[in-house]
Amino acid sequence: MRTAVSSMRELKATDPSVYQAIRAEEKRQREKLLLIASENFASPAVLAAQGCLMTNKYAEGYPGRRYYGGCQNVDTVEELAIQRTKQIFGADHVNVQPHSGSQANMAAYLAVLKPGDVILGMDLSQGGHLTHGSRVNFSGILFRSFSYGVARETEVIDYDVVQRLAEECQPRMIVVGASAYPRTLDFPRFQVIAQSVGAYLLVDIAHIAGLIAAGLHPSPVPYADFVTTTTHKTLRGPRGGIIMCKAEHAKAVDKILFPGLQGGPLMHVIAAKAVALAEALTPAFRRYQHQVLANARALASGLAERGVRVVSGGTDTHLMLVNLTATGLTGKEAEAALDAAGITVNKNAVPYDEKPPAVASGIRLGTPIVSTRGMREPEMAEIVSLMDQVLRHPRETRTLRTVRKQAKALCQRFPIFHSYDESSA
Ligand SMILES: *Cc1c(COP(=O)(O)O)cnc(C)c1O
Repeated sequence: MRTAVSSMRELKATDPSVYQAIRAEEKRQREKLLLIASENFASPAVLAAQGCLMTNKYAEGYPGRRYYGGCQNVDTVEELAIQRTKQIFGADHVNVQPHSGSQANMAAYLAVLKPGDVILGMDLSQGGHLTHGSRVNFSGILFRSFSYGVARETEVIDYDVVQRLAEECQPRMIVVGASAYPRTLDFPRFQVIAQSVGAYLLVDIAHIAGLIAAGLHPSPVPYADFVTTTTHKTLRGPRGGIIMCKAEHAKAVDKILFPGLQGGPLMHVIAAKAVALAEALTPAFRRYQHQVLANARALASGLAERGVRVVSGGTDTHLMLVNLTATGLTGKEAEAALDAAGITVNKNAVPYDEKPPAVASGIRLGTPIVSTRGMREPEMAEIVSLMDQVLRHPRETRTLRTVRKQAKALCQRFPIFHSYDESSA
């Protein structure tokens, strides 16, 4: 048996069913306009590391103090990932082992909280994340959770209201960060609120980590006890999580993540995290993030010019929410019509949505992927025009077919990754 570098040709021979599904996925990613704000295209170097034979290694513990022999090489990549995270974000302490953003958050909570403690986070239905206290998630099951949202008028966070809620519920932890909030977060203000009630501050930068790495969104690191992130969204790495914290919490974080919550770390994924973090230190990455923002602004203003209602009137980040109420379409219907037309988005609740989340009154759009492909403002104008046609005629099969051809043609002008056929030849 050969067990060297991954080869699509061997996969094809061994498991044609999985091979075919991967090829179909390659085609989907290649030919559709992907506007899902939480996704990105990792580089070939990141994919190579993530597909590497470090998946074969057990390495419970941390570099230099493992429970297994033979960890010299995985220690090297984990140290690199830690050093690069510190270099980018300036954190006191870094743990790169969380399997996901959710695991990173669980570790940050359990490093200092006990079940039954009170947490205050952003409401899922107003832009927050499941792990910030939702009833259906461990965070709402283990802790007594309270939530803040956005003001009805402005659709942005009202920090005076957050202060008042914190005084009312007296949380042990305040959780900041969002999956569907397009505006800059005021971390110094959150620190003031947390300190005024004696709460820890956890900032979850899963979505905006790439922007922060590029200096295009303020960093929470000086203000927060804990900063968690995913590595696969704007940061453009492999799927996974990272925890950063103040020195005083270092031991507690490391101990609760392993052995508290996880077993062996995914060393191939940590290798890929190291690669992505090296990429994030380059001028090219900074230019990329600039374009992500410019594209998001162009997309939001283009849609607004066509009478589409953009929540809070625009965006400061890579993402925006569109409120479809006036069009008579639900988020679910818009998602289906757009996907049929070669444009992939996700339905999303808008602030004070009256529809259930599985239907929703809005869609969420983001520019990380189209920007990775090399698209710029002129292409955003084309995307606006294509989306506008679909939203006006969501049930006209002919329109959907025409738009799908145009979306594919636009994608083909910005080719991405070599075909597996070429790379495995
Ligand atoms: C995506 C996201 C996460 C969770 O990431 P997973 O890797 O899917 O567990 C956590 N917090 C926020 C704010 C997110 O957007």
